[in-house]
Amino acid sequence: MDVIGYGTKKASAHLSPLKFTRADARAGEIAIEISHCGVCHSDLHQARDDWDNTVWPCIPGHEIVGKVVAVGDGVTRFAVGDRAAVGCMVNSCQQCEQCKAGDEQYCTGPKSCTLTYNGPKKPDGTNTYGGYSTGIVVREEFALTVPDAIQSTHVGPIVCAGITTYQPMKYFGLKEGQTLGVAGIGGLGHMAVQLGKALSARVVAITTSPEKTDDIEKLGADLVIDVNDKDAMEANAKTIDLMINTIPYKHDLNPYLPLMKSKSQIAVVGNFLGFDDLDTATMVFEHIGLTGSLIGGIADTQEVLELCAKHDVRPEIELIRMDQIDEAFERMQKEDVRFRHVIDMDSLRSDTSAAEKAETVDDPIRGEVVG
Ligand SMILES: [Zn+2]
Ligand SMILES: [Zn+2]
Repeated sequence: MDVIGYGTKKASAHLSPLKFTRADARAGEIAIEISHCGVCHSDLHQARDDWDNTVWPCIPGHEIVGKVVAVGDGVTRFAVGDRAAVGCMVNSCQQCEQCKAGDEQYCTGPKSCTLTYNGPKKPDGTNTYGGYSTGIVVREEFALTVPDAIQSTHVGPIVCAGITTYQPMKYFGLKEGQTLGVAGIGGLGHMAVQLGKALSARVVAITTSPEKTDDIEKLGADLVIDVNDKDAMEANAKTIDLMINTIPYKHDLNPYLPLMKSKSQIAVVGNFLGFDDLDTATMVFEHIGLTGSLIGGIADTQEVLELCAKHDVRPEIELIRMDQIDEAFERMQKEDVRFRHVIDMDSLRSDTSAAEKAETVDDPIRGEVVG
C-alpha cells in the first residue's frame, strides 16, 4: 500500500508530507483506507520529543478510522468495505499474563506492545507510522468494529481519549451513587464527563477555565468547580470517590486532594512529567490512592465504543485539513482548543501538491503477527 503521511524527521512541530509503503496485508491483517484521524496531545508531545523517546521520522496519529480495503488470509472479523478503527496499539505478544487479561498495553512480551506510531512501547529502534496518513495495515485483533450509530468523524477520539478515561472508571468499578471528579476538561476530560454520566455517576468537573462552565455543563456535568475558587473547593471537600486527572503537564496536585473522600482514588492519565511536592500527608491520613493508567486494552476499547453508541456519548470535534496540523498543534498548546481536532484524510488524499513534494522515508516495520 503506497501511503502519503504527514510527519517530521526532527523535534519540530512543523509536519510535512512524507511518502512510504506499508507492506500489504499478510495473513491475519487488514488494510484500511483512513478517512479520519483525531489529533491527540500525545501527537504533539511525540513530534516535539517532549518525552525524549521519539523514533524518527515521527508520523503521529492513533485515533484512526476508515474503510477496510483488503484482508489477509484467515481474517474473520472484517470484510472489504467494513469500517474499522485503530487506537493506540497495533501489536502485542498475545501470550503474556497482561495480554491474556486483555491489557495488551502492558504486554511483557519481548517487544512489549507495539504502539501505532513510534514503535514498541519499550523502544527497540524499530518504528511504526500512525494515522496522519492515507492508509494503515494492522492485524485484525487490533482493529475495532465501529457501531453504525457513530459517524466516522467522531470515532477517533473515542479509541484514545474515550478508552483512556473509561478504563480507570471500569477498573475502580465506578457506579451509580458515586461521584466522579474530572480534572482538566480538554480532549480527555470532556469524554470523561460524558462517560461518567453514561455510567450513572454524579460528575464533578474541576477546571482552571471557569469561562468554559456553560460548555462543560452541556456535556452533562452535575457541577463545575473552578480550582482557584476557594469557597467552591471548600464547599465540595471530601465528595469525590474517583478522580480522573487528565491534565497533560506537570501541575500542582495538592489543591485537588481535599476534594477526595477517604479511601478514594485519583487516576492520572495524561501527565508523564511528574508532580513536585506531593502532599502525601493528606493522602496517608485520608487513604487517597494515586494511580497511573495507560489507555486500555482492546476488549475494553470495543466496550467503550459500544457504550458511546448506546448512550450517545460523542467527542466534540472540529474537522481540519491535513495541512492545518501545525496550526492545530499550536492552538492545542495554547489551550485554545475547544476539545478535539479531527483530520479529514480526504484532504490529504486530494492534495496533489502534497503528493508531489512528499519526501520518501524508510518503510515502517510493524512486527510479525504472533500469538
Ligand atoms: Zn492519544
Ligand atoms: Zn503480551
